[in-house]
Amino acid sequence: MKKDNCIFCKIANGEIPSKTLYEDRNFRVILDLGPATKGHALILPKEHAENLYDLPEESAAEAMVLARRMAATLVEKLHCDGLNLVQNNGDAAGQTVQHFHLHLIPRYVGDGQSINWKPGSPTQEELEAVRKTIVE
Ligand code: AMP
Ligand code: ZN
Repeated sequence: MKKDNCIFCKIANGEIPSKTLYEDRNFRVILDLGPATKGHALILPKEHAENLYDLPEESAAEAMVLARRMAATLVEKLHCDGLNLVQNNGDAAGQTVQHFHLHLIPRYVGDGQSINWKPGSPTQEELEAVRKTIVE
């Protein structure tokens, strides 16, 4: 299903033009309009899903296979030195477009970008409490 007024539904389904790198029955891969680095691409499912939790498992699996293939192409064609996969869910995580998308961000030595967090230093007991909360 497409969602009215969803810009990524419109792009994925070709109603709004984009710099398309790849398209098949279920996905379109486009260049990000505000790229972190040269070649920053987005994998968009054609079916609307708001985020990862809303995405059918089959599509999630297909998206990751496509990510692997696109990553190999970006490395081969752009000669990047590394590549980040980024996928944001929810405002708190920085999601700004509410249609699932997977970022492929080629990285170049000295590109000045960073996708980092400040590591915490929990005790073993704190880690165990979190583990129990998740698995029990
Ligand atoms: P996120 O913060 O994970 O929701 O990422 C949204 C991304 O979509 C950002 O990197 C934007 O630069 C990108 N973006 C937003 N609108 C468009 C558009 N019309 N075409 C291509 N990329 C877009
Ligand atoms: Zn959508």
